[in-house]
Amino acid sequence: MGIFEYAPAPESRALANLKPSYRPFINGEFTDGSGEPLKTVNPATEEVLAEVGTASQSDVDTAVKAARKAYEKTWRPMPGAERAKYLFRIARLIQERSRELAVLETLDNGKPIKESRDSDLPTVAAHFFYHAGWADKLEYAGYGPDPRPLGVAGQIIPWNFPLLMLAWKIAPALATGNTVVLKPAETTPLTALVFAEICQQAELPPGVVNILPGAGDVGARLVNHEDIDKIAFTGSTEVGKEIQRQVAGTPKRLTLELGGKAANIVFDDAPLDQAVEGIVNGIFFNQGHVCCAGSRLLAQESIVDELLDRLRYRVSTLRLGDPLDKNTDVGAINSADQLSKIRDLVETGEAEGAHRWTSPCPVPERGFFFAPTVFSDVHQSMRIAREEIFGPVLSVLTFRTPDEAVAKANNTPYGLSAGIWTEKGSRILSIANRLRAGVVWANTFNRFDPAAPFGGYQESGFGREGGRIGLEAYLDV
Ligand code: NDP
Repeated sequence: MGIFEYAPAPESRALANLKPSYRPFINGEFTDGSGEPLKTVNPATEEVLAEVGTASQSDVDTAVKAARKAYEKTWRPMPGAERAKYLFRIARLIQERSRELAVLETLDNGKPIKESRDSDLPTVAAHFFYHAGWADKLEYAGYGPDPRPLGVAGQIIPWNFPLLMLAWKIAPALATGNTVVLKPAETTPLTALVFAEICQQAELPPGVVNILPGAGDVGARLVNHEDIDKIAFTGSTEVGKEIQRQVAGTPKRLTLELGGKAANIVFDDAPLDQAVEGIVNGIFFNQGHVCCAGSRLLAQESIVDELLDRLRYRVSTLRLGDPLDKNTDVGAINSADQLSKIRDLVETGEAEGAHRWTSPCPVPERGFFFAPTVFSDVHQSMRIAREEIFGPVLSVLTFRTPDEAVAKANNTPYGLSAGIWTEKGSRILSIANRLRAGVVWANTFNRFDPAAPFGGYQESGFGREGGRIGLEAYLDV
């Protein structure tokens, strides 16, 4: 059967209200940062989108001071029911401006508009609504009658879900009475700065939220700042370890959400077409730039050939290209650096003897793109089975027995997520219990809800985000 040809259906770029320049947000105002300005690029076209002011050491000091003052004078003393009103207001403004934010996210990040519009933005708003609901009920959260906030939180987020990671960090911090200084990733600062506008629109008291664009050095300054009470970081395991070393021996609290190499386990009784959809969603959603991506497919040996046939056919139907086109399934890789990292690891996979299949889809000449790729005949010792590729590349391994599946799934320094595909409910429960992963999906993948805690084991980090347990990361308990 042939594939339907779709006419182009581009979303209007004008909706993003793109400005030529953006500035750091400190103490309720946009201010000229005294760091070296950076240029943020559209990864789908390589054009410069905007110039963004960055924070220097003195800007970090000013922002932390503003956050401390807002914490002491305004935010901590404010009754939870009042804090909740601000969070509800922010949530509603995000919904009102969601189209603008979705287009801007897609321009700055390269992710398909259908994902930023239908997945990221609704989940961002949901996070603020969910945590708004907690703000006046903290005494019923199971942390004692009067749980206290920690103080000023320094938050550092990556580029793969810029606004969603901001929401995961800011919503619980504010609901529990903390103030924040947040550093977005160098390559995706724009939606965080529009979020700062939303804070102004919501009349959030100055200093409660501060946004400092910049490179890793701004993050490092936050980590080392003596007047910060808590660091929340999402990003690579390498930087996470560095941060942990720096925070060790200080009174700062720390939560780390790091990399992953999740096993997506398909048993021989699984509904294969559904499993194929879950595998595709698990690794090609957001170009595979997902810490909990199902990047290792573990297929039971008796069905691997049939599963791979169906998978390759399905993957060959994915449309790669302009992220603003509403029909696009796979958008652009976020940066030239990330693209070269993916290419290097894929070359290693070939050199180590795995069998590479890459979708024959056309790849645009300009921009950073990588066609969906599936490696079969992968062995556990290969780098593509061990390291986080963080791109649209799946490594397929096989197993014969449930015990072997569990052993292979757990054979990783990470432990963020896993998937199980089988018709047997009892098997789901027994396997899930034995997987060392923070989140285990059954007959689905990549489902998120603000009420469900998310976080890892081992080198995937510690601490949970979301749900009641996620509040603990911002409370003195
Ligand atoms: P990083 O861990 O370097 O970036 C995450 C955030 O930390 C960014 O805001 C970054 O700033 C900041 N940062 C960098 N260095 C420091 C430091 N020393 N102290 C404090 N903050 C710092 O990830 P990369 O973007 O470099 O991606 C590299 C790899 O990490 C990817 O290929 C992928 O494998 C993995 N990764 C995993 C993520 C996950 O969610 N688990 C998310 C992103 C990446 P800046 O923006 O300037 O880099």
